[in-house]
Amino acid sequence: VIQETYQPLTEETAILLAKERNLFSENSTLSCTEIGDGNLNLVFHIKDQDGKGIIIKQALPYAKVVGESWPLTLKRATIEAEALKLFKKHAPDFVPDVYYTNEVLAITIMEDLSHLTISRKGLIDGNEYPLLASHLGTYLANTTFFTSEFGVDKGQKKELVGKFINPELCKITEDLIFSDPYFDAETNDFEPQLTSTVEKLWKDTELKLQVALLRKSFLTEAEALLHGDLHTGSLFVSKEETKVIDPEFAYFGPVGFDIGQVIANLLFQAIAFEEKSDSIYSQVRTFWNVYQNQFSILWEHDNLEPFARIDGFLSSTLQKYFQDAVGFAGCELIRRTIGLAHVADLDGLPDEKERIAAKEKSLALGRELILKRNEFTSIEELVTFLQTKK
Ligand code: ADP
Ligand code: MG
Ligand code: MG
Ligand code: MG
Repeated sequence: VIQETYQPLTEETAILLAKERNLFSENSTLSCTEIGDGNLNLVFHIKDQDGKGIIIKQALPYAKVVGESWPLTLKRATIEAEALKLFKKHAPDFVPDVYYTNEVLAITIMEDLSHLTISRKGLIDGNEYPLLASHLGTYLANTTFFTSEFGVDKGQKKELVGKFINPELCKITEDLIFSDPYFDAETNDFEPQLTSTVEKLWKDTELKLQVALLRKSFLTEAEALLHGDLHTGSLFVSKEETKVIDPEFAYFGPVGFDIGQVIANLLFQAIAFEEKSDSIYSQVRTFWNVYQNQFSILWEHDNLEPFARIDGFLSSTLQKYFQDAVGFAGCELIRRTIGLAHVADLDGLPDEKERIAAKEKSLALGRELILKRNEFTSIEELVTFLQTKK
């Protein structure tokens, strides 16, 4: 199966590959199902007769978006595999094991997490994940600290920055998050009832300036290795476990971007289900507090930066991450409401009036978070602000 040239696997060749790699004992009977969502990647789930499984994720050389397809580099499979390995090293509890990768085939073979649930689905179904927020805080503190100049040798960091140049996937983010929602782009997708609000947003030069600044930060600030697509669809969860998957958008960017995506995707739950808002706000609080505590502990014990002991350096670093995160969260709220890729939390609301009202709320909140981000000096101020918006 392992060939000199790229070829999409089938359920049959995926099994042959698993056998060839000795991932199962010789006499096992294997079955395989393709379980991906089919836009960018194939995901094969292979199981033996006892239900023991593995996952093979393979990148496709194109993306199916807006009805047509555009070519997309297979290199992202290598980026994803390398990012998984590095994140695994720094946050072992929260990342699947990688068993094998192949650059030519653009595949990663990894731990089967099918005993867990994708958190977006679980949350929409009304389940609670009491450890999710603190797990994510620890995961992100570790991965962002140990890939920043505070936690890794500066020469090594520069090498990593070069290894994780990810221009095509970054361009998707630059367009879909920081550009298209702010003008009449073909990729946008929203209900006619939102038209007047959206047209106002397109003329909102104050807002567009702040988005331009956040976009510039995304384009230029190589603070740490980001996941780059850290929404609740990239998290496998149970009451006990959290695993972060799908880092194909990984690149060195502003730390607040990942933090902000987590916050925004939690907030969709509060926007869609009013009765959950207190619980969601307290999860946002826990997430940031755990991030901050863990990052501060690492700063204290593992900092390689000679200036680390200067009074105020840690607190201004955290303050910058936090304010950036608030702004990036605002961008995520807006783009998931009117841009190309939506979230089921909002789209799935069956009552039309309720759905439109939730989307209006998401747009208004997104706008305020972007404009006011530098006014928030603590998580309590953010939570208080969110509570007044209910
Ligand atoms: P994409 O980049 O195409 O979004 P993902 O990595 O998010 O791909 O995977 C798509 C889907 O495949 C996930 O939502 C999940 O259902 C399934 N999947 C991916 N990785 C695993 C895994 N390690 N174990 C079990 N299922 C997985
Ligand atoms: Mg998917
Ligand atoms: Mg995904
Ligand atoms: Mg993906």
